Amino acid sequence: MKQAFRAARTFDGEREVPGEPVIVVENGKIVAGGPGDVPVTDLGDVTLMPGLVDAHVHLAFDPFGVATDQTDPDDVVLARIRANALEALQAGITMVRDLGDRGYLTSRVRDAGPEVLVAGPPVTTTGGHCWFLGGEADGIEGVRAAVTERVEHGVDVVKIMATGGSITPGSSPFDQQYTTEELRAGVEIAHAAGIPVTVHAHATSGIKAAVEAGVDSIEHAFFLAPGGLAVDWDTVDAIVRAGIYVSTTSARRPTAEPATPVSLTLRENFARMRERGVKLVCSSDAGIGPFKRFDSLPHGVIEFGELLGFTPAGALASATSVAADACGIGHRKGRLAPGHDADLLAVGGNPLEDLQALLDVRAVFRAGERVV
Ligand SMILES: [Zn+2]
Repeated sequence: MKQAFRAARTFDGEREVPGEPVIVVENGKIVAGGPGDVPVTDLGDVTLMPGLVDAHVHLAFDPFGVATDQTDPDDVVLARIRANALEALQAGITMVRDLGDRGYLTSRVRDAGPEVLVAGPPVTTTGGHCWFLGGEADGIEGVRAAVTERVEHGVDVVKIMATGGSITPGSSPFDQQYTTEELRAGVEIAHAAGIPVTVHAHATSGIKAAVEAGVDSIEHAFFLAPGGLAVDWDTVDAIVRAGIYVSTTSARRPTAEPATPVSLTLRENFARMRERGVKLVCSSDAGIGPFKRFDSLPHGVIEFGELLGFTPAGALASATSVAADACGIGHRKGRLAPGHDADLLAVGGNPLEDLQALLDVRAVFRAGERVV
């Protein structure tokens, strides 16, 4: 079926499109050319843009629960995955990349609203960060076997815990979990299968090892050090040279709590990384806490503009075209361009003038079908 939509303004994933363009959709994809004799649906005084892409979520997690407690039966987790995916869709998020579940449960819920990319259980050391999700693997051979298993399960991305994390008792974000060689062994298997690798990395040593191993993206990249943050700018420059994406996991719902010194420094650091040329992806880590609901992403985009020095177009790109590129699917997501999936978001007002407009969701389309 062919359809056409007109909006007052259009952002194509990279920039505002001049004039009052019409987007033509056929069989769920954006097609080139004018509407011809297809009736045009006027969406009114809205800005039409690509649906948002959240490159880091945990659909299986309850933001109000305890991630370490994995005692819920599978059917309860599957219902939660569906509900969380719908919460994202309501906020205009038409694609999420799930970076950690147990038992590949999220792979069973690809049709919950947004398109869902999956990693399965993150690869981690025995007793390491998120071991309770079932992805323990040690040494070069262990990592190879774990990544091979994920490839066989049809994952879209491999997630490896390069350092420890704070939500796992007995694990420290300062500790490197894998050597460069172990990470590289995983990267080789994944890349041979055409699958990108992203790593969870907080401390400098783990970030450095990930860069040396040739990963595609780094989650968090806070450069945590005992007592605060200590960015190693040489490593940041290596990230730029290698073209590695940094997924900030910084999006969260606004809170009444005042910003902490660490969170203020973190924003300054990301702003400097942007100036140095790092490709920053706005992402949320939704699911890991009460302020990390599945509709958090737009708030992060607003923060990119207001606090990290992004232009409005740059902030919007960080959660559309750049995020899709980081996930390895920039050829079909994150842009309003012929051949791309017709995943569309219409917001009231003009986010290119005021990013708060992102919170005024008027319509959401998935593969050309109106879902919100
Ligand atoms: Zn996460």
